[in-house]
Amino acid sequence: MSSPVINKFVVIGIGLIGGSLATGLKKRGACREVIGIARSEQTCVDAVNLGVVDRAYTSLQSVASELTAGDVIFISVPTLSVKAVLADIKTHVSADVTITDGASVKGNVQTAAQEVYGEVPAQFILGHPIAGSEKSGVTAANPDLYENHRCILTPLATTSAVHLNLVTRIWQAVGAEVLTMTVEDHDEVLGATSHLPHVIAYSLVDTLAHDIDNPNIFRYAAGGFRDFTRIASSDPIMWHDIMRANKTGVLHALDLFIANLTRLRTSIEIEDSQYMLDVFTRAKNVRDEFTANLAKPHVVSTHVISKSEAKKD
Ligand code: NAP
Repeated sequence: MSSPVINKFVVIGIGLIGGSLATGLKKRGACREVIGIARSEQTCVDAVNLGVVDRAYTSLQSVASELTAGDVIFISVPTLSVKAVLADIKTHVSADVTITDGASVKGNVQTAAQEVYGEVPAQFILGHPIAGSEKSGVTAANPDLYENHRCILTPLATTSAVHLNLVTRIWQAVGAEVLTMTVEDHDEVLGATSHLPHVIAYSLVDTLAHDIDNPNIFRYAAGGFRDFTRIASSDPIMWHDIMRANKTGVLHALDLFIANLTRLRTSIEIEDSQYMLDVFTRAKNVRDEFTANLAKPHVVSTHVISKSEAKKD
């Protein structure tokens, strides 16, 4: 990178998502300084010692007066905590500083911003990187987490093109492809492709652990079980917040899934081989195509994505 994309980058919530963006920008020389804001003193110490940020504080007030146009604040706290952070930002930060976030649900962040500011301010770009892991905290920060991944931005009628452009360039600087879509499409699509699988994985592990009366149940579990349930190791608070924040999207996807699962159950009960083979064959073909697409070379770009296109992800 020849010259930094931005001046100061402030990350509020120095965990997996915020820490990875901070350390990714640092690694690529994409900003002049990276400042962390965390809840706990220990996270501040760890973030500096690990080289994730240049300096860190437990309060935004410590740096707010330094921030001007060209600086960016990234909010990466659990979804339901974004509103309190926005209220803090409104009190202390000027209107020319770019604000963005990485929360997994966008509808409730939009509502939170409207409640705090009256309307979503032009400086606030709602976003969601489609990258992550079941690990959390600052020690999980990875500078290459976003390489060859997508980041969805959900600009609104009130959004400033200048701030949108800056946030787009930040994500591109860490190797992500930036897509834009509406808040509503985002929450519907992610409800189906991300939130629903987490509900199913949590429920499956919990069912096996508590409701099947066999103490050896996990002794014989192998790779298939491990692959299918990896995401059940994700942070419970984060996923609690996502289910609450995207209740409509998750329930819609869950109802569809329950209906199809019930039909599949019937096919097993009545030995309807044709139905089972149809479902399994269709699913295998879609999964194989998805895996093949993931393996294709990635081009960093920006484009608007439609709901049907996103569903292919
Ligand atoms: P994380 O690793 O647990 O980090 C969250 C950070 O937020 C921690 O540094 C924590 O500070 C801070 N925090 C927690 N509760 C807070 C509160 N009530 N007020 C202020 N700060 C608080 O979580 P993450 O995986 O980075 O997730 C951050 C956001 O990214 C979430 O909104 C999540 O939905 C979204 N997201 C996650 C993934 C994923 O795969 N994990 C992917 C895309 C988007 P302390 O360390 O000081 O306690």
